Amino acid sequence: MNAIKNLIRGNELFKNYHYADYEDEIKELIKHGQKPDILFISCCDSRITPDLMLGSKPGDLFILRNIGNFVPPYDNDLSYHGSASAIEYAVSVLNVKHIIVCGHSYCGACKSAFEEIPNTQNYKNIKKWLKLADEAKKITLRDTYKTEFDMAQAMEKNSVLCQKKNLHTYPAIKEKLLKNEIQLHAWYIHLEGAKIEYYNNEINKYEDISLYQDNIFS
Ligand SMILES: [Zn+2]
Repeated sequence: MNAIKNLIRGNELFKNYHYADYEDEIKELIKHGQKPDILFISCCDSRITPDLMLGSKPGDLFILRNIGNFVPPYDNDLSYHGSASAIEYAVSVLNVKHIIVCGHSYCGACKSAFEEIPNTQNYKNIKKWLKLADEAKKITLRDTYKTEFDMAQAMEKNSVLCQKKNLHTYPAIKEKLLKNEIQLHAWYIHLEGAKIEYYNNEINKYEDISLYQDNIFS
């Protein structure tokens, strides 16, 4: 069965066996509009499946996906900033209460920061976008690591913190942070086992998500 036919079959199964589980909620969301509490910033990587991994339902997560779960710094040059406009929409229109920047293990974008990207027109946008990993790369290279895997994970985790820092450049987020109306979170998913870690600002390190306390403002 080819890839498209798999999707069509998946939709048939969902319509016939699972849609009923969500029907009331979806009707409410259509009637009153979406009101998600969370903007979830994830990598495009096909192995990340937020709703499956987190048990979230329609209406729970406003999801922004891009290569590397990067956050471009605020820029008012009025180009077509897809990621920035999704962030602004989530904060200024949907009034989300939380923004989670979620990195992951085996991230190709973070790995690419250490590789040469071809200097051709077919890679032009990728090459520019990957500059958003430069700061994390610098931080990562300050330490030494026993294995390449350890270094890759350090890079991925450092990158999440750099991207989270970039959220502070958005005027709408700055305003809401001052009024304690929004919380910023740094998360990291291990693909194997779907284990999640979060960055604890009080002890300045990542720890298992089961230890998360709901009073940490960033
Ligand atoms: Zn990735």
